[in-house]
Amino acid sequence: MNKEEELKIIEDMQAVVEQMRLDDLEDNPDSGTELFECQCCGEEKPLAGSVVYDGIRVCNDCVLLAETGFALGKIKNISELMQNMEDRKLEAQCRFIRQDEIEHNN
Ligand SMILES: [Zn+2]
Repeated sequence: MNKEEELKIIEDMQAVVEQMRLDDLEDNPDSGTELFECQCCGEEKPLAGSVVYDGIRVCNDCVLLAETGFALGKIKNISELMQNMEDRKLEAQCRFIRQDEIEHNN
């Protein structure tokens, strides 16, 4: 798969996932303001556009990552995505801690 094909898939997925969000908002306008804690990114996100994979509810942003990951063959299931996110969260935490150390040393 070349870059152009990958980009096309990503664009398609963005449209599909955005449509899911719009459909949810149409069915239930409250879903745009009702929040839940996404089990993937750990953030409070609106219910609209969220999807349950393997019993795990993930937010619209994470759905896009998941669907793109599936389409590109980068991940096989939602736990792989969560694992990836966990790594990134750790990375962000490590940077934050290092920043903190630097500030304390000054
Ligand atoms: Zn999320």
